[in-house]
Parts: sequence; structure tokens; C-alpha cells
Amino acid sequence: MSKKGLILLYTGNGKGKTTASLGLALRAMGHGEKVYMIQFMKGSESYGEIKAIRKYLPGFDLVQKGQDTFVKKGNPTQEDLRLAKEGMDLARKVISEGNHNLVILDEINVAVDFGLIHEEDVLELISLKPEHVTLVLTGRYASEKIMDKADMISEVKEIKHHYRKGIPSQPGIEY
Ligand code: ATP
Ligand code: MG
Repeated sequence: MSKKGLILLYTGNGKGKTTASLGLALRAMGHGEKVYMIQFMKGSESYGEIKAIRKYLPGFDLVQKGQDTFVKKGNPTQEDLRLAKEGMDLARKVISEGNHNLVILDEINVAVDFGLIHEEDVLELISLKPEHVTLVLTGRYASEKIMDKADMISEVKEIKHHYRKGIPSQPGIEY
């Protein structure tokens, strides 16, 4: 395959990182590409994107490797660590097999920052990437070393967020 895969990274404190990666997935699928998304630190089927993918996009592989509860920074549970490891093992397999053109590791930057995943293991994953595979890494607090490896970085910066006005999470907007 002649396609040039890239390492794309979405970070920053504003809203739009996970949804940007889902937009890319939609775009890639339009070209007949296979997409695999692994979500770290998420474990709820209530997200609209999950419902839509399950209902309308059977070719979109999406797996969650987290619990439906908040992870305590610096104090993860054994289950948090086990799921993060499973996510990394799966990512290693999917990336090295190269059957999917687009592999999205959602919230992986946060998983590193929270101590669920070693930064070196993410760097190793990046080094496994076959030429034709595009790897998308999302999440706040991306590490310098991981950013060094990226071909593209967009930092989403909060200017305003409706949450600050007391508007709680809403279906179709937040989840
Ligand atoms: P989205 O999933 O909407 O693309 P995101 O991936 O950029 O957002 P995360 O940093 O993963 O956002 O945060 C997860 C949740 O927090 C989302 O429900 C998002 O709407 C919300 N959120 C994102 N940025 C902010 C913010 N600056 N203030 C409050 N809530 C936020
Ligand atoms: Mg996100």
C-alpha cells in the first residue's frame, strides 16, 4: 500500500479531541478504510458515538478498556491497571497486524498522565506502526516525548465552556 500513515495527536484542555478523532474515522471510512478505536479510561455504552457505531457502522471496531467510574490520579485500582494493560496489549496487536488504516487510541495521553500506562510503552507502540497505518492519540496532558513523535498536533484550548455556566453534560454534546 502506498498510503503514508501519520501520527496525529489531539491534546489540550478544551472540548473537541475525542469528537475530532471520530470525525476522522468517519472520513476514513468513506474511503473504505478500516478503523479501530480503543478507548482508555472509558467504560460506558451510553456515549452517542458508541450507539451510532453499533447501529450503523458494523465495520468500525470500537473497544473500551476502562471502568465506568473516575480513575483517581496517582491511585488507580487494580482493575484500572488491568484494563489499561489489556488496552495496550490490544493496541500492540492491532497496530502491528496493520489490517486497519486508522487506529485511534482515545484518552491514551490521560492514561499515561494518570500512571495507568508507561510512557515508554506508548513510544514502543508508535515505533511498531507500519507505514500505511495512521495512529491517532487523544487526551489532555500529552507528554513531551510522545509529542516529539507526532507528525501533527492540535491543541484544543478552552476559551469558554458551557459547563462553567452550570450547564451539565448533555446527550449528543458531551456523551
Ligand atoms: P469531546 O468528547 O466532546 O470531543 P474532549 O475529548 O475534548 O471532548 P475530554 O478532555 O476527553 O474532552 O473530556 C471529556 C468530557 O469533558 C467531555 O464530555 C467534554 O465535553 C467535557 N469537557 C471537555 N473540555 C471541557 C472543559 N474545558 N470544561 C468542562 N468540560 C469539558
Ligand atoms: Mg476525550
